[in-house]
Amino acid sequence: MCSSDLLSDGTPVMLLANAGSVEAVVAAAAAGAEGVGLFRTELLFMDRQTEPTVDEQAALYSAVFAAMAGRRVVVRTIDAGSDKPVPFIASEHEENPALGVRGWRLNRITDDIVNRQLQALAIAAADSPADVWVMAPMISTSQEAADFAKHAREFGIRHVGVMIETPAAALLADKVLAEVDFGSLGTNDLTQYVMAADRLDARLSDLTDSWHPAVLRAIHSAATSATALARPLGVCGEAAADPYLAAVLVGIGVTSLSIAPVALAEVRGFLATIDRATCLHAADMALAAASAEEARHAVKHYLEHH
Ligand code: PEP
Ligand code: MG
Repeated sequence: MCSSDLLSDGTPVMLLANAGSVEAVVAAAAAGAEGVGLFRTELLFMDRQTEPTVDEQAALYSAVFAAMAGRRVVVRTIDAGSDKPVPFIASEHEENPALGVRGWRLNRITDDIVNRQLQALAIAAADSPADVWVMAPMISTSQEAADFAKHAREFGIRHVGVMIETPAAALLADKVLAEVDFGSLGTNDLTQYVMAADRLDARLSDLTDSWHPAVLRAIHSAATSATALARPLGVCGEAAADPYLAAVLVGIGVTSLSIAPVALAEVRGFLATIDRATCLHAADMALAAASAEEARHAVKHYLEHH
């Protein structure tokens, strides 16, 4: 077990890694991650024409958990659709795939695939040396959160959560998080959906900017609810890999940050130089800004001169 990451005043901030393969989990452990905050299971299956059996999946998940023995691993159930086509999941043509049947919405068509995945995860978690948490992607309503929690708990999953990556889930987080044990903010999709701008379209990159106060206010809404409900709420989108934005997110109230392993050292090093009051002030500045640019510049100036 590695020691906790801390702000300069001793405030703990859990620093986790995003991963999509056993190799990436090994790299994350070597980089000193306190665990995996987002394991993207669909990345295991991108080249699979047929669905892996429950036993085959359980073996894969066991290898992931073994690589993080003694630490937390947050697994996301399959997030197929939109920008992540999985060959063995037949997808119909959709006019707006990012708004279509993706993530947990797959269960509207068939619950077999996620059920088999949950079964495999439960088998692998049962004798795992890791602390296994499981969450669903693309949740919009408290009913969806409740449905997922019911499915996952029936299979014996002990820590059940949801991604907060739609504006609906962020704004209604008091209801959504009440159904589960934890939340994880997917800032890549949350930014895309708050700003109504395709995350894959480079022409819109000024809009798909997680520094935008509209995005930060949505995160603030979710964090306020999570704090009131005493639910852990992490960030697992790319935003947390920007050290200054990480400080803002901590100030807004998130309890963990999950980032690419290569970004861990920089974010850890920067957070160790600032205290909670500084994070709170940076968050206030960013939330009060009128634009992403204004938020970024105000916080940068403050953090470099405080
Ligand atoms: C996100 O949306 O921020 C996220 C972490 O998930 P993905 O990038 O895989 O959609
Ligand atoms: Mg997402």
